[in-house]
This record gives sequence, structure tokens and C-alpha cells, in this order.
Amino acid sequence: MAKYTGPVCKICRREGTPLMLKGQRCLTEKCSIKRKKSAPGPQRKKKGKVSDYCEHLREKQKIRKSYGVLEKQFRLTYDEAQKMSGKTGENLLSLLERRLDNVVYRMGFASSRMQARQLVQHGHVMVNGKKVDISSYRTKENTVISLAGDFSNNAHLAEAIKLSKATNSKPEWLEVDYDAKSGKVVRVPKREDITLSCNEQLVVELYSK
Ligand code: SF4
Repeated sequence: MAKYTGPVCKICRREGTPLMLKGQRCLTEKCSIKRKKSAPGPQRKKKGKVSDYCEHLREKQKIRKSYGVLEKQFRLTYDEAQKMSGKTGENLLSLLERRLDNVVYRMGFASSRMQARQLVQHGHVMVNGKKVDISSYRTKENTVISLAGDFSNNAHLAEAIKLSKATNSKPEWLEVDYDAKSGKVVRVPKREDITLSCNEQLVVELYSK
């Protein structure tokens, strides 16, 4: 599956906000956006107000890149969100949030979505007792996620769980048993469960143009 392999911190600098793509490092002084606020690339003189289109596009890119989804997949998810009842923007966020890689990350078994994706793609994640290695797999209510294999001495997992407990980042729509290395989707996430600071309505407006 295609994936972004370029410098990750540049994404945050481009969007002008910390997207927490590197786990523990994002909380330290090493975070690039804390040290260098400007956008990557040659510095240009500001030309006044940004266009409406630019504002809409940047918001879409921020959401898409936060979840590490490529353009085509993001658009397909949007089309799906549009067919659902309710608000398209909220549906879009909910669908993205239910991706298997995101759920593993939210449960605290990985310190970033990228690390979670690696866990999934390397076959370390079980869904309802069966191995699933598709990071875009859509979880639903009562889906049980567990880690396969021996993680008792895994430093990355220990660090991720420590980080999750320290930041208290596990959302209410998930249940986690850190000792058993498993968790459950208690309910589908609602808008208020999603912590990413974004205006999803701008994405709807962008795609409606
Ligand atoms: Fe973004 Fe994290 Fe890099 Fe900071 S360290 S710029 S939050 S990915």
C-alpha cells in the first residue's frame, strides 16, 4: 500500500500546528514546530490575506495528514461520509477515527499512528481473534482488538502505554486492558470524542465547490 515516506515534522510546519505524528518526541523540546515556526521551503514575503480556497485546502490537508491517509483514500472516505445520515463532516471524522491503525494508537498500544500502522501491517494486531493487517480496516461497536505475540519485553509498547497513561489520552469510546494487551470499541466515536482541533465543515465546502 502506498504511504507517505517524507519528513514528518515538515507536515506540521506546513500546517502550522503540532499534529503529534511522532509520539513521545512531540511532547519534548525537540519538536520541530516549537523550534522553527515557519513553513518549510524558501521563505517568501507574505502577500496579505490567504485566499478562501487556500484556507479550505489547508484544513483538508491537516485532517488528512493527521490520520496519515492518502488523497484518494481520503476522498473515498468523504464520499462514504456523504452517503450516511447526519452531518458529512462529522461522519468523515468518525470514519477516520474508526480506522484500525487509529484505534490501536488511541488505545495506547502505539505512540503515534505511524507506529500503530506498522504494528498492524506486520501482523501484530488481532481483530475479534483473527489477524488483520489492513490499517484502514473499519472497526465498529463491540470490535475487540488485541496484540498477537509476546510483547512482555517490548520497549516501544511499554513507552506507548506509559505515554498514554501519562497524557490520559484514551477516549471514552474505547475500553482498554493494558495487562491483557487488548481493548474494545464500546461505541462509535462522536464529534466531541475527536480531539483533533479542526473545522471539518471547510472540507465539506471544499469538496462541494
Ligand atoms: Fe509535529 Fe511531533 Fe514533529 Fe513536533 S515532533 S513537528 S508535533 S511530528
